[in-house]
Amino acid sequence: MNLDDCISIVTEYDEQKYRAGQIFNWIYKRNVQSFTEMENLPKQLKLNLSDNYLLNPLKILKVTGAKSAKTRKFLLECQDGERIESVLMKEQKRITICLSSQIGCALGCEFCATGTMGIIRNLTVGEIVAQYLLLLKESEKPITNVVFMGMGEPFLNYNNVVKSADLLNHPDGINLGARHITVSTAGIVPQVIQYTQERHRYKLAISLNGSTQEQRLKTMPIAKKYPIDKLIESVKYYNIETKNLVTFEYVLLAYINDSESDAKSLINLISDVPCKLNVIPYNEIGGKFRRPSNEKVRDFLSNFSNASFTVTTRWSKGADINAGCGQLVVN
Ligand code: SAH
Ligand code: SF4
Repeated sequence: MNLDDCISIVTEYDEQKYRAGQIFNWIYKRNVQSFTEMENLPKQLKLNLSDNYLLNPLKILKVTGAKSAKTRKFLLECQDGERIESVLMKEQKRITICLSSQIGCALGCEFCATGTMGIIRNLTVGEIVAQYLLLLKESEKPITNVVFMGMGEPFLNYNNVVKSADLLNHPDGINLGARHITVSTAGIVPQVIQYTQERHRYKLAISLNGSTQEQRLKTMPIAKKYPIDKLIESVKYYNIETKNLVTFEYVLLAYINDSESDAKSLINLISDVPCKLNVIPYNEIGGKFRRPSNEKVRDFLSNFSNASFTVTTRWSKGADINAGCGQLVVN
């Protein structure tokens, strides 16, 4: 719930509006786990809230990775018994949480474990933000970055994802900077346009994963509905309107899209788009694809030494505990 939602609730109980601000503060700033801890609220209001509302809709079922480990994966249970995974990663001063936006995913990208689940349902705003609040309690240090790169396609749960990002960003609550929040999409063109028009300031990442329509079609069925030229067009529109760069993600699959000519074709495709490129060596999920050797990854990267854009490599953290990109799945 955002501040307006909290105001509606307190008004319903004939309380003054400022009570909503107090509740908002307890939930998002103080991260309390029960209404009884909200010391400055009237007793009756606390009772009413406890009887009718839920502060934390998720329960931790399992944690993989030691507290000291760089990557820890959390299996979480929703109220209806459905389960999701979230990942906490630390790298020097940066603590990143990878949030799920849906249970499963409808898009069925061939290289992604979540895609094998099909879609079960969208997560609510409460379930998305609760991943953050719950894992913050588990984290030794404050979380500095949020990426919507867990289970699901954020732009197919658009309203809830945007509302969640707004809550994470709210100055009276969690107060995470907009540029510390990244939404990643497999390329849902109408929502890229909507996102641009609504002027959201969260970073945008686009999973390209291929440099031609034909190549994308081989691994990403959604490319049929939203072809690569329309996707690139929408990204250019985003850039012109917001002056922000997008990050193109490119999962590197051995013998599929990792050759020198693939690199050249990629340069051709995105050179006139103000962007960054993030190359993600494929994390194996037991399917037909293979991860390229580190040498092959370096060879691929060497093609970009004169490129007009910045290139980074995501050596996925947590692949050893199946917490790397694309490895999140519940059975
Ligand atoms: N549905 C969104 C966000 C979740 S996936 C999207 O697809 O963008 C986050 C990133 O992980 C995407 O860039 C996706 O292409 C990548 N990914 C999926 N499966 C992977 C795998 N097995 N190895 C490496 N990266 C993978
Ligand atoms: Fe869904 Fe993203 Fe996985 Fe594709 S890569 S199946 S869009 S979660």
